[in-house]
Amino acid sequence: MDLKQYITIVPDFPKPGIMFKDITTLMDNGPAYKYATDQIVQYAREKQIDIVVGPEARGFIIGCPVAYALGVGFAPVRKEGKLPREVVRVEYGLEYGTDVLTMHKDAIKPGQRVLITDDLLATGGTMRATIDLVEQLGGVVAGLAFLIELTELGGRKKLEGYDILTLMQF
Ligand code: AMP
Repeated sequence: MDLKQYITIVPDFPKPGIMFKDITTLMDNGPAYKYATDQIVQYAREKQIDIVVGPEARGFIIGCPVAYALGVGFAPVRKEGKLPREVVRVEYGLEYGTDVLTMHKDAIKPGQRVLITDDLLATGGTMRATIDLVEQLGGVVAGLAFLIELTELGGRKKLEGYDILTLMQF
């Protein structure tokens, strides 16, 4: 299946110069969403993962159906102040300023093999920060899966040494 036909490119969103890749037109198509999910499920099976992790909010949309299909758990990564119990945190750089991501301290058991999912790999900053959280908890990052990779931004460089699956490249 050619998944790219289901991605809507929205120029100048959320600000001038950005070509926003809207995945909602893939998600609202049953066969396309299932096909994309199945590709990641197959990858996760090969990597023998124990748990799926994804950053809010689009990492949930990709990761939760994968976890369900495999019968494994899903652990959310959220912005600071959203998770109710003790967390580990990581501060990471944005284009302007910094942001913080957190995970519950008991979300991953040491040695568990983790698949991290997100909708899109741009600079890799979000994924790098998520990897840091998983590794702080002793998790083994077995694979990274994205629907979309923006190849010119060089996110792969920032994720060197990790196994990466991307279903579409722009
Ligand atoms: P980064 O940390 O730079 O890899 O950015 C990754 C996050 O930003 C992804 O989770 C996307 O949700 C979002 N993002 C970055 N660039 C785009 C884009 N051109 N279209 C849609 N989402 C984007």
